[in-house]
Parts: sequence; C-alpha cells; structure tokens
Amino acid sequence: MTKSTRDGRAKMGSRTRLVHAGREPFENHGFVNTPIYRGSTVLYPNAEELHLRRVKYTYGTHGTPTTDALENAWSELAGAAGTVLSPSGLAAIAVALFSVVRAGGHLLVVDSAYRPTRNFCDTILKRLGVETTYYDPLIGAGVAALMRTNTVAVVVEAPGSQSFEMQDIPAIAAVARQRDVCVIMDNTWATPLFFPPHERGVDLAIEAGTKYLSGHSDLLLGLVSANEKYWPQLKATHESMANCAGPEDVFLALRGLRTMELRLREAERQGLALARWLAARPEVARVLHPALPDDPGHAIWKRDFLGSSGLFSVILRPASRQQVAALLDSLELFGLGYSWGGFESLVIPFDCRSYRTATKWAPEGPALRFSVGLENIEDLQADLDRGFAALRATPG
Ligand SMILES: *Cc1c(COP(=O)(O)O)cnc(C)c1O
Repeated sequence: MTKSTRDGRAKMGSRTRLVHAGREPFENHGFVNTPIYRGSTVLYPNAEELHLRRVKYTYGTHGTPTTDALENAWSELAGAAGTVLSPSGLAAIAVALFSVVRAGGHLLVVDSAYRPTRNFCDTILKRLGVETTYYDPLIGAGVAALMRTNTVAVVVEAPGSQSFEMQDIPAIAAVARQRDVCVIMDNTWATPLFFPPHERGVDLAIEAGTKYLSGHSDLLLGLVSANEKYWPQLKATHESMANCAGPEDVFLALRGLRTMELRLREAERQGLALARWLAARPEVARVLHPALPDDPGHAIWKRDFLGSSGLFSVILRPASRQQVAALLDSLELFGLGYSWGGFESLVIPFDCRSYRTATKWAPEGPALRFSVGLENIEDLQADLDRGFAALRATPG
C-alpha cells in the first residue's frame, strides 16, 4: 500500500489518482513500481491449499501482481467494479462481446464503429447465430425502435471511428437500462479521463491500451472495465478464454498510465491547434473534430466529455487520388500508418463508403485522419504546407 487508498483518493484529482492508483510499494520491498511477474505455474504450500485454492494467485492466466496493479488502477480511474486485460484492443472487444452474446441473440452496433468490431460481428458472431443490426450514430433515444425482445447489447463509440460523429450515450443508456440491454462502449478516443464511462450509463467500457495508455507505439493491449452488474460475467468470460496480456506490455502500460493525463492534455492542445490551422486552409473543406464549436457534435461533446484527444479528421476539397498521394508522399514528419495515440504524428487516408450500411458516407472530397504527436506545431504545419504545395503541383 502507498499510504493513500482508493476511497481516500475518490475526492482527489485525476492526476493524483494516476500517480498513486494500483501501486503497492511495501508489497515490493518499497520499490515504487510493481515489477514484472512472469510465470505460468504458481506453487501451493501444501496439499490442503492445492485442494482449496485459497491463495491469491492460482495460475499465470488468472492474474499476477503486475496485472492486478494495472487492473486496479484502471478500475479506479474508470469508476468500475473491475477490469480485465487482453493482448490487444480488438481482443478486448471480443471478450466484451462474448461476455453478453448468446445464440439467437441480437446486437445493435453503431454504423461508425471501429471497422474490425464490425468484422467480428459479421463473421464470428454471425456464425454463432448472433444477428447484428447497424444503426445511425445520431439515433439517440430513437434506438428504442430497433430493440427487439432478443436484443442483448447496444454497442456505442463516440466519436465515431474515422468519421467523428458524436453519440448521445446517456440517452441510449437510459433506453437500454429500461429493457435490461447491456451498453458496451469503445471509449478509446476519450479514455476514462475525458469520458467517465460508467458514470454516463455504460456497462462495459473498452479501451485499446495500445493508443494513449501506451503513448509510445511500442505495445499492444486491451482493457475492459465493468460496472457491478456486468463484472461477474466479464470476469468469468475472460477467465474461460484465457485472453490474458503479456507481462512486459502490462508493465509498460503502467508506466504510461502515470503520465497519461499530461500527454492527453498536450495531445488535446496540439490537436486543436492543428485542427484550427487546417480549417483555415483553402485545400480543406471541413474539419471533423467535436471540440470545435461549429462541429455538428459539439453540443454533445461539451455536455458529456471533459476533453478531446489528438485524433481528428479532415475532408479535403475535391482532389484526385494522385494529388492526395503527392501530399502524403511529400510529408517528412507525419508517418503513414495505422494505430494512433503515440508521441509521433501520423496521417492516413480513409473512405467509409465500402462498409457503412445504415448511413451514407458521401463527403465532398478525400478524407484524411490525423493523430497529432508531440513535435513542435510550427514544424508540423510546415510539413503540411509542403504537402499541400505538392498536392497543388500535381495535375488533377
Ligand atoms: C486501435 C483501436 C482498437 C483496437 O486496438 P488494437 O490494440 O490495435 O487491437 C479498438 N478500437 C479503436 C477505436 C481503435 O482505434
């Protein structure tokens, strides 16, 4: 124990919680950080204990002091009854869904969900007899009309993956609660720091720890936190699947956790600065960033969220594929790559047309998603200046 406790920290600020949560120095000879426990086998002191399994740790897949440290810290941060760790964000999504679905059940999934979530529903869950209906991210309480007697969960994600629509999560959660339907949220963009999921009515909250929790593009990790009602079934499902995370990745995530708020606040500041700069560019038609006052989702963001992270998109004015390629290829600082939330800036082109089913994605020009890193903002702007010059110099 550090001297403070979870209850004692409840009234303290989030930065204090991030520094102290999940650490037990005096269970580790006074060392500030919980070390990496590696292992499969756990030895029991005698036959009686082996039979009763009354010990705290029973087997590597069931948890170690290292995984406990991160699970406890995350539960405290998210205001959850419990948290499980998975080897990737997508694995965490699978655990969350497996903990509520059954053959013959029905899922409601937002049309703007992370694309691999859709793939999981459309392939594995479909094969197991679970039907998925996709719905408009702007549906709000209107989701009630899509609920059936066999609906087991509604999956929300705000802002939408790539396209940044905001969802009225409290309204959706109120409708779901009346019908005893589980609300599952992919909260990776905001993290519990900028959207406290369980306070807002979410039952199971997913975080791709690969992104801002890691912050360094050097690990893969997923977390699912649950409220009291859903914790027993989440825990049991996770244990049945042995969907556990690697000890080094968990240790690095604990290290990332201590500075997560500082990095997120800086990502927010840099992200807003770059978004405003892009909004003023003649090559840009629109910026999709819910923290900007003229964004269609701004009112909901302002009401429900406590901050914005450094990931947003822009719609360019009409341009050819060659022109967009010229822009991307001339960039020296922005990397071209998937994932996000690291210290380095990234950009990817995207097009939701090929997979949306409940809504139509028809922007006026090509779309780019930016993850803004910690570089000097003037250097990032100069890099994009170079990119836009290359776009203009390329025949359409
Ligand atoms: C990246 C991402 C995931 C998946 O995380 P991985 O660790 O890459 O599997 C899930 N949801 C969202 C919104 C993401 O951006």
